[in-house]
Amino acid sequence: MPALVDAHCHLGDAAFDGDRPAVLARAAAAGVGHVVVIGESLAGSARAATLAREHAGLSATAGVHPHEAAAWDETTPGKLRELLDAPELVAVGETGLDYHYDHAPRALQRAAFEGQLALAADLNKPIVIHARDADEDMAALLRDWGGRVPAFVLHSFAGSRALFTAGMDVGAYFSFSGMITFKNWRPEVPASQCPEDRLLVETDAPYLAPVPHRGHRNEPAFVPDIVTALARQRGMAPDALVRHTFENASRVFGRRLLTQLAPRENTA
Ligand SMILES: [Zn+2]
Repeated sequence: MPALVDAHCHLGDAAFDGDRPAVLARAAAAGVGHVVVIGESLAGSARAATLAREHAGLSATAGVHPHEAAAWDETTPGKLRELLDAPELVAVGETGLDYHYDHAPRALQRAAFEGQLALAADLNKPIVIHARDADEDMAALLRDWGGRVPAFVLHSFAGSRALFTAGMDVGAYFSFSGMITFKNWRPEVPASQCPEDRLLVETDAPYLAPVPHRGHRNEPAFVPDIVTALARQRGMAPDALVRHTFENASRVFGRRLLTQLAPRENTA
C-alpha cells in the first residue's frame, strides 16, 4: 500500500529531543508511512541506527556530512561499515560537497566523499548526496562512480542544470524538499522535467520547513505540503505522485521501506 515517504530527515537532531514520539505520531497521522533518518557524523549515524532499530517505519543511513569532513580519517570507513551491517541501515551518507559554506577544506570534503563512494560501491548500497555550489566537481565524481555505486540520491535537489544532466547520466534520484514551496524557487530545470521514476520527496527536517511553516522547525508531518507543491508544478495528481515516490523509495532503499510507522504508537 503506497504511503508518503520522507526520504531525508535528521530525526536524531537535538531539535527533536523534547518531543520525538509526538513528532512520529503526527507524521503517521499525516499519512507518512516511512522516514529515512539521516546520519551526518559517526555519532549522528549511531543515533539514527538506534532510532531505526527501535521503530518500524524508520530506516537509517550512516555517513559523514561535508561539513564534518575534517573528522574523516583512515578509521572512519571501518566504523561506518560496522553500522551499515544492520538491516535497517539502508544507505551511505549524508555525504557530498559543500563549497557554499566551506566548513571543511575542499580537498578533505572530496577525500571523505570519495571514501564514502568507495564504501557504497563495496557494500552495494545507495548513497545520499549533499551538493551545494560544487556542480563541476560533483558532476565529475558522479560520472566517475556511475555504474559502480548502485544508486545516487541527490538530496534537496535545487534544480541545477549541470547536476540534473550528470544525475540523469548515472540514473540518479532527485529528492525534492520544502525549497520547492519557497517564493524564490526558480530552478534552471523545472520539476516537471524530472522523470517520474526518479522522484523522491523529503523534509530535511529540522531544516527547510515548507510554506506555510517556513521559519519554524520542520518535521516529517509536513511532507504533504511538499507533495502538493511538487504535484502542482508537475501537473500530476498528488495520489499518483505519492505512488511513484513510494515505489521509487522502495526501489532505492529496499524492503525496509515496506515497514510503516505505527499510527497509534507513542501518542504523546
Ligand atoms: Zn540533510
